[in-house]
Amino acid sequence: MPDVAIAETSTQTRTFDAIIIGAGIAGIYQLYRLRELGFSVRVFETGTDLGGTWYWNRYPGARFDSESYTYAFSFSDDLLRDWNWSEHFAAQPETLRYLNHVADRFDLRRDMQFNSRVTAASFDEATDRWTVTLDTGERHEARFLITAIGPLSADTMPRIPGVGDFKGQSFHTYRWPKEPVDFAGKRVAVIGTGATGVQVIQTIAPQVAQLTVFQRTPNWCTPLNNRPISEEEQRQIKANYPAMFALLRTTPGCYVHDADPRGTFEVTEAEREAFWEQRYKEPGFGIWQANFRDMLTDPKANALFSDFVARKIRQRVKDPAVADMLIPKCHGFGTRRVPQETFYYEAFNLPHVKLVDVKATPIERITETGIQTSDASFDFDIIVYATGFDAITGAFDRIDFRGRGGQSLKDKWRDGPRTYLGLQSAGFPNMLTIVGPHNASTRCNIPRCIEQNVDWATDLLRHVRDTGRTRFEATEAAEAEWTQHIQELAADLLYTKIDSWATGINTNVDGKNVRRILQYQGGAPAYRAKCDEVATQGYAGMVLGRI
Ligand SMILES: Cc1cc2nc3c(=O)[nH]c(=O)nc-3n(C[C@H](O)[C@H](O)[C@H](O)COP(=O)(O)OP(=O)(O)OC[C@H]3O[C@@H](n4cnc5c(N)ncnc54)[C@H](O)[C@@H]3O)c2cc1C
Repeated sequence: MPDVAIAETSTQTRTFDAIIIGAGIAGIYQLYRLRELGFSVRVFETGTDLGGTWYWNRYPGARFDSESYTYAFSFSDDLLRDWNWSEHFAAQPETLRYLNHVADRFDLRRDMQFNSRVTAASFDEATDRWTVTLDTGERHEARFLITAIGPLSADTMPRIPGVGDFKGQSFHTYRWPKEPVDFAGKRVAVIGTGATGVQVIQTIAPQVAQLTVFQRTPNWCTPLNNRPISEEEQRQIKANYPAMFALLRTTPGCYVHDADPRGTFEVTEAEREAFWEQRYKEPGFGIWQANFRDMLTDPKANALFSDFVARKIRQRVKDPAVADMLIPKCHGFGTRRVPQETFYYEAFNLPHVKLVDVKATPIERITETGIQTSDASFDFDIIVYATGFDAITGAFDRIDFRGRGGQSLKDKWRDGPRTYLGLQSAGFPNMLTIVGPHNASTRCNIPRCIEQNVDWATDLLRHVRDTGRTRFEATEAAEAEWTQHIQELAADLLYTKIDSWATGINTNVDGKNVRRILQYQGGAPAYRAKCDEVATQGYAGMVLGRI
């Protein structure tokens, strides 16, 4: 039986069946599912409201690179029928409205507690319960602890001296204010040219008086080719939902795109060029996910396609020296996340937009009035830090998780995560990590994998409850085998040879300077099949017990 619903154990401490950390897509859906089980649940969220990624990232130009309708929740036909996406790739305000609509429609908000950052969580072996501590000092208990803390939610500022000295306005893109920022006529710096920097730059470039972009590593950006959804398309999308979700279950990344079965060198040069031209014109990630099957594994194939994209950049950027700076030299196409753009390269043709290569002329410090590089001093009204995240494991490191015997998760994962299915870690009973390291989610159109993670976790909790158990835990052996499997799956992929957030590199975080395999690379269908097999075998690789 579940614990008594929301029992008061002191004036402040309450006991729940389950505590969920985070009110993004994962936390919202996990709450919905646990309500169905009749569990008492509390969601703790740092922000003042729900939405996760789409609550925090309010910077100009923030939008999907998944097709809106492929990203939405699939669990409710009524919800699918009711909601109309306005664009193929919706902007952040629309997605935040959508998530609020979901929460209101299913009355989810009443179990969410905002302004509540979880600082610590510890497991008590005597009671098989977790105690969770908030930054407010509150402590609450639960049989089960579910992390839904996000793969890209631990924002990082650059380690540049003087960051606090600047007297103008400055913002990290994740911590964007709720009120709009007025860029008109301003002198603006953007530091960082990853997916977020690209979206900001292309959006504000036409509004500002001066824009200076500080680039360390250029990325291979390809056109988003976004457009509004017409009424006729809306009808077709809705009629096609069952077929579309069935298709998304078959592709490795749960996108509508799948690799072309042909190898790069199995077609003539003319066929290859025509195929790539077509992909360049199409919307979304097709150019990355539906390219020739060897593009991400064969260095020669990858180099040839990278040349194709480099030619596109040269065609679009008028100044050949600037074009050259924008062409990546240290990694091939698709080995880092591909930013999708609209007007990014053309922005550098505007007379008031300047590109600074900080590898050639490093930023020495942020000053009261702007930025000092090794060869120039710039004055700004606004500095935008598009400097990204301590990805995948960062949000875990920021909570002091203590498992059996008081062991620390941060210490356990210091040399890289060790997990079972990317959903549990041995020594941390009754804890599930939705979108955790080593699961398929972060290579995925994420809500599709979130739904799988959450459905699996919910079935496990139902099983534990219905069989009268109070505890589940991955075995060390199952964890070692899964962690080894994760390494083997990634061995031949070009991306593992590259520094990026996906390989755990972040020069702004201590200890994140060694590449690690953080993601399951076998594709979502194989991952789903493995999780299902584990469940069918009565949760093989796990020990289920009772006090
Ligand atoms: C700008 C941007 C665009 C993106 N676009 C796409 C896209 O098009 N397609 C795609 O598949 N993915 C995209 N992603 C990835 C995106 O993060 C996921 O799609 C999805 O939002 C992850 O949902 P989540 O619930 O797992 O995490 P999040 O949405 O990150 O939510 C996690 C929540 O946990 C909270 N939290 C974290 N730590 C604590 C704590 N200690 N205590 C309390 N609360 C805590 C955070 O405040 C946050 O609200 C994008 C990411 C970014 C940053």
